[in-house]
Amino acid sequence: MQKSAPFTEITRTVDLSAETHGQRAKCIQRLIRLDMPVPHTVALSFETVHGIAAGQVIDTRPLLGSFGADSLVSVRPSPAMQEWGGPTAMLDVGMNDTMLLTLSETIGAEAARALYLRFVQAYAVEVARLDPELFEPTEPTRDALVQSLEIYEEEMDEPFPQDPADQLAAVLKSMARAWEGTSARLLRQAKGAPPDAGLGLVVQRMALGMGAAESGSGVIQFVSSETGLAQITGRYLSQSQGRDALAHRAEALYLSRDSRGPSLEDACPEAFAELRAFGDVLRTGLREEMQIEFALDAGKLSVLDAVRVPRAPRAAVRIAVALAESGVISKEDAILRIEPRTLPELLHRQVAFDAQRDPIAKGMAASPGAATGQLVFSATAAQACAAQETPCILVRPETSPEDIRGMHAASGVLTEKGGMTSHAAVIARGLGKPCVVGTRDITLDLRAKTLTTRDGRVFAEGDTVTLDGTAGACLAGAPRLMEPALDGSFRTLMAWADQARDIGIRANADTPADAETARRFDAEGIGLCRTEHMFFDEDRLTVMHEMIFAETGEARGAALERLLPMQREDFVDLFEIMRGKPVCIRLFDPPLHEFLPTSREGIWNLAEALDLPVSTVTHRIEALSEYNPMLGMRGVRLGIAIPEIYEMQARAIFEATVDVSLKGAIVTPEIMLPLVSARREVELLKTNIDAVAAAVRNERGTRFGFRLGVMVETPRAALKAGEIAEITDFLSFGTNDLTQMTYGLSRDDAGRFMGTYVQQGVFAEDPFHTLDADGVGELLNIAAERGRAVKPDLTLSICGEHGGDPDSIDFCRKAGFSYVSCSPFRVPVARMAAAHLALTDAPVEKKPRRFNLLGRVLRSGS
Ligand code: PEP
Ligand code: MG
Repeated sequence: MQKSAPFTEITRTVDLSAETHGQRAKCIQRLIRLDMPVPHTVALSFETVHGIAAGQVIDTRPLLGSFGADSLVSVRPSPAMQEWGGPTAMLDVGMNDTMLLTLSETIGAEAARALYLRFVQAYAVEVARLDPELFEPTEPTRDALVQSLEIYEEEMDEPFPQDPADQLAAVLKSMARAWEGTSARLLRQAKGAPPDAGLGLVVQRMALGMGAAESGSGVIQFVSSETGLAQITGRYLSQSQGRDALAHRAEALYLSRDSRGPSLEDACPEAFAELRAFGDVLRTGLREEMQIEFALDAGKLSVLDAVRVPRAPRAAVRIAVALAESGVISKEDAILRIEPRTLPELLHRQVAFDAQRDPIAKGMAASPGAATGQLVFSATAAQACAAQETPCILVRPETSPEDIRGMHAASGVLTEKGGMTSHAAVIARGLGKPCVVGTRDITLDLRAKTLTTRDGRVFAEGDTVTLDGTAGACLAGAPRLMEPALDGSFRTLMAWADQARDIGIRANADTPADAETARRFDAEGIGLCRTEHMFFDEDRLTVMHEMIFAETGEARGAALERLLPMQREDFVDLFEIMRGKPVCIRLFDPPLHEFLPTSREGIWNLAEALDLPVSTVTHRIEALSEYNPMLGMRGVRLGIAIPEIYEMQARAIFEATVDVSLKGAIVTPEIMLPLVSARREVELLKTNIDAVAAAVRNERGTRFGFRLGVMVETPRAALKAGEIAEITDFLSFGTNDLTQMTYGLSRDDAGRFMGTYVQQGVFAEDPFHTLDADGVGELLNIAAERGRAVKPDLTLSICGEHGGDPDSIDFCRKAGFSYVSCSPFRVPVARMAAAHLALTDAPVEKKPRRFNLLGRVLRSGS
């Protein structure tokens, strides 16, 4: 291998890359190429720095020689990615007794002494590794300087090094070694750096920012890091302004006139105007909003460095769109600059990044966003709060369908148990409310209505807390929240993403409110409407109870007759809101007893409502209970055992189809059967549903079509997909249950040990969160292959919670699925992730394609 030169003077023409010299060196070269007034700079390659760490000695004299006599230099880290950090920068290298005298002539004795003292203190701590307490920053008096030099000599048994070349050699060695230390390596690996990531170093002539006329140093940027809107922010430390130039005494001078206090704009308007012009040059030259680090020496401006403006996700979107709209970057580039997983930050309120946080519980971040409210410990209390328009946070050991109304009423939900697909998590994501689950570090006392934290703090009902569903924490009090940022930039970027992607994105939506959200986020239809959620409203629950408790077919029929118009209205609403987009309705899925009360009070109320003795009600509830309800009488099993329920639902769907079609809308409903494990189940139900369709066509004297599909949620359904596909139009993978059943792992209890499992590498990820491509994915591939073998145009999709996860979308796209369906609030993430995959992946061999009006590629069935 050819050895590179130990150091390279950065010029316009020199060959330098971020892969060999680091991002800072590369950026400085770009600044030089853009004619920025950058002080002379020399770069050391990864190879050189690694050699220094390994004990190689380099002659620093020629390096320093390139700076000319009487120069001070700074040394800064230059890793391949700026965010990997690096050792602390060293300033003022070259400062010694002689320079003290020289600089005293130009910048004044006190300023020169301050520089020397600052250097001795930094060198002693960072390079000689002496105790920082011995070298705390002090007033730069003559005594303080003498004392620091004496302590150094005493501790090191040698005087403070006077030769700038020796100083520089020691600084380079100490920074090179610091980078190779174990803790530094672990720290940067946590930020995504590879174990063997190299470090470059950048040596630059110091612009002292000191002098008689306006002098100082600072950073400036031209957009806000929080919002991305045009705004000049930064800081500037003036060293002159008629005062002694003491770094630690200098006052902040505000950058521009619109902020309070004296401004750089007033003190040195030419420099301020120049900086603004530099901002424009960098924006177009580097195709990025940059933060500029600068120094001002008696009115003369130097640009020392520039980094990407640090930014919150909402700011990132505004900046990317603004750059693309002004032609600086392409739309594709703008899309790729936004990490899909950061989008939920824009869709919900968030705890402001500079807010004070006082965490009282930590758990899984099950649904993003933040909400402040009073603690409540029951669904009833949550509803009472909502009635008084008081925001509240509902805390439960876990939630069940009984809590749904309380969850609607609350601003956020915290549960002690549960995982990413537990009841609370799924419902909260659907509602777009923050939710934290699996908070094992709290103790709940539901009787006393208290929450006790691990460190013994007790919070009672009514206390104000803030739930941070994005970070998975509950905080005491009411920190500042930021509002959602669904503005024009967001919409523009999402429209660009839609033009780029090649897999459909639908939403899981159960209610008109969900459907409105799905539309607002431009979902291409509803991929899963869980109809059971429609029966939890007060008026319907009572009829539901009558249906469940019916002793005769006649009584059950009467109850279903009452439910029919309500269901029909539900579907009319959904069809109207979705305006011609496909709506996939899953017939009733849960075990019936999920609709029955568990508390004594609930049972008593039910007995009263049904006019039955409490003992009868208790007895019936007991009779309906199952040892293993998730594997019991639910889904198609219920549909076959009590066919009237599915028949009522099918009728409601078809009647709603006719009603809405008569108003001029195109409706092609999709009906989906849950928890199928055998073709015969589908045959039986298909016969019933076809009969209902024929009856409605007859009664209403009209024609309509519908598509019948199967939800593949059991491993057997996946294996038998060939047989099943023969009699269905589509297969949608319910990967929540399929994951549960493939692993034999309860989705509601996984939270208990998932953390440990992931930590110990048993599972690479929580399989309820990211699709297990190896195991569950193999079942999906088998089913897809067997299904397509008998029906090449079979529509395939997933509708489990994985539908919103970028890695799982990658899997579905590669498997050639038509669409993924996820919670409405995850639709933007899915759209953006799909666009990223389409833009970065080599095209995958897929099913026949067709194009939509925008020229976008769609797969058949989407
Ligand atoms: C599933 O099992 O993946 C699914 C979508 O259905 P549910 O979550 O309602 O069981
Ligand atoms: Mg399911």
